[in-house]
Amino acid sequence: MVKSKPVLGIIGGGQLGGMLATAAKKLKVKTIVLSDDPKAPAKKFCDEIIISEYDKRKTIEDFIRKVDVVTFEFENIPFKVLEYISRLKPVLPKPSINQIVQNRFTEKKFLNNIGIRTTNYVLISSQSDLLNNENFLPGLLKTCTLGYDGKGQFVLRNKEEASELKIEFNKEYILEKKVNLKKEISVIITRFLNNDFVIYEPIENLHVNQILNKSIIPANINKEIFEKAQQQTKLIAEKLDYVGTMCVEYFIDEKNNLLVNEIAPRVHNSGHLTINTHNVSQFENHIRAVCDLEKVELKKFFNAEMINIIGEEIKTHREKSYSKNEFFFDYLKLEIKEKRKMGHLTTIKL
Ligand code: ADP
Ligand code: MG
Repeated sequence: MVKSKPVLGIIGGGQLGGMLATAAKKLKVKTIVLSDDPKAPAKKFCDEIIISEYDKRKTIEDFIRKVDVVTFEFENIPFKVLEYISRLKPVLPKPSINQIVQNRFTEKKFLNNIGIRTTNYVLISSQSDLLNNENFLPGLLKTCTLGYDGKGQFVLRNKEEASELKIEFNKEYILEKKVNLKKEISVIITRFLNNDFVIYEPIENLHVNQILNKSIIPANINKEIFEKAQQQTKLIAEKLDYVGTMCVEYFIDEKNNLLVNEIAPRVHNSGHLTINTHNVSQFENHIRAVCDLEKVELKKFFNAEMINIIGEEIKTHREKSYSKNEFFFDYLKLEIKEKRKMGHLTTIKL
């Protein structure tokens, strides 16, 4: 008997939710998005959308009733909400993973405990903590929770800047020693319910003002780092008992040390190029894994480069014409905001 396909609930209605819904459609999997944003860009790509705050019991129950399995496009959904949902329907990846990864401190602790190197860091809860940890300067002070695209981060070059920093320490921070970066890479893996997995080659990433600007394959790295990054990514996915697509961001320092920067328990911006370079994209693999569909051997067809289109830049892109090796993705966001990811452009190398 052929298994019927589940109805997939996706929490979050941004561009990642939209690209997940597009991949699901290709696989004939019905999607229902839950979003707190009435203008959610994913609306145009999914089968149904429920607009609600993430902690509103009645609408969440409606959502749960309509779906067979639940996943999410961003990791900052309150743990209590995911846990509540998981009592009634499977949530993949499982909520306990989010609890670890949502917090930069517990995330790094977890990594160090499984023998993986991260940046040097210290927990900071007051101005005096900051001043007493001069050996972590120059560094970056980051909120432990809820930061993305460089939000909630302060670059501190020296003690003077640290003492001039005027923030209320009403939440926890970590101070990370600044790494002299040679390169940044990311590795995307999809792990299935039967522990099988597919892993993409490392992607090289360039950031501008802590926001991803460009992603490239192949990454310009040696074989040793290529393999080590894939091995570590696999180990992390296994230790987390992860199901779905996950991304690990790495720093490579001047001495060629490989350090994990952070784990994204979801599809990742650097993996957008997989839509055009591989037989199965990171989005389609995520749907296949969480819906328990067949795993397909991964094949790369092209090398490529992807650039993020931020804020006003989208206007010129909307009017441009593109050649056959260029793929422009417009997230169809109604409002243009500074630093907002509005779309991306992937150029494949023919
Ligand atoms: P976000 O959660 O916003 O993605 P990250 O911690 O990944 O935040 O930081 C964003 C970017 O800022 C990194 O990709 C890197 O370019 C730079 N950065 C962050 N931490 C450090 C560090 N300790 N040393 C050097 N660069 C850093
Ligand atoms: Mg990051």
